[in-house]
Amino acid sequence: MEYKYRSQLPAILQALVDEIETAARTEIGIIVDRLMAANMQAEMTFLGVAPAAPYGVMEVSKTGNFGPPRLNVRVRGDLSATTFDGYPAPFAMFAHELLHLRRSFVDRVPVVCFVAGKPQANQGPRALGFSCENLERTLEHAVIEPQVRRYVPEQPLRFVTRWETVPSTPFAFSGSVFDALWICLSFWVRSRFLDLDMGNQKRARDRMEQLGLLAVARAYTDHLDRLMGSPDAERAKEQMVAATCSVLGLRREFIGLAYGPYIRPVPVDITVPRDLRPLASAWLTSFVAGGRGPLSVTPGK
Ligand SMILES: [Zn+2]
Repeated sequence: MEYKYRSQLPAILQALVDEIETAARTEIGIIVDRLMAANMQAEMTFLGVAPAAPYGVMEVSKTGNFGPPRLNVRVRGDLSATTFDGYPAPFAMFAHELLHLRRSFVDRVPVVCFVAGKPQANQGPRALGFSCENLERTLEHAVIEPQVRRYVPEQPLRFVTRWETVPSTPFAFSGSVFDALWICLSFWVRSRFLDLDMGNQKRARDRMEQLGLLAVARAYTDHLDRLMGSPDAERAKEQMVAATCSVLGLRREFIGLAYGPYIRPVPVDITVPRDLRPLASAWLTSFVAGGRGPLSVTPGK
């Protein structure tokens, strides 16, 4: 990293930069982009193609000559930039972006890059629905955000989830039961790992209980929690994605993982805990047993 940027960082983040650059065998660039929408964005590419753009990566793969990866953090302004809600502590947001790069190049975790053979990004009104980008972001942030505090101890862990935006009838959220389940599950993951406020955690439990999803969702995040402590972060990520397939009722071969520039489906040899039943069946069971399917769930307080 250029001296003028690296020298602005606290010593512990300078060491993190060194760790990533050594593992990736390349320097991290800083791109100042005052017009960007996000505050900051970590970027990694192989011959100009990001792993999240699988078709481009497949084309690059054919050449068999990737060269070194390019790593950048794109920033709108200062490296110490804060936000009022999520990142009030200086450098917490920058540490977050570095940790994305650390996961890929030091821990070597694969990136979820397609679903059912097609790249799917968040677009338009379905931004909350299921996509590989949304799955990737949900899992990575569950791992990364608590780690930010190792580097910036003043950073609170309080990403409040707006459960009031989940309607009383999740089917009304979008046309798809699958998207509705994913919205509930991704909110649950966020509440469980990224918000230490006990009151908010209780609201999350109550809401998932009301939706009939609590038991499976809890088994899922307990499993993720165990995997986060695994010394083999690459295998743990594969297991996280396999577990997600189980609770969403998705076939594993539909999901592609990018290991740097190489793409493979989720490994078939992974077993998941037996209590990770598909969430859709939890809804079906509550509908049949109690006569109170998701369509008659009353709104949360
Ligand atoms: Zn992020």
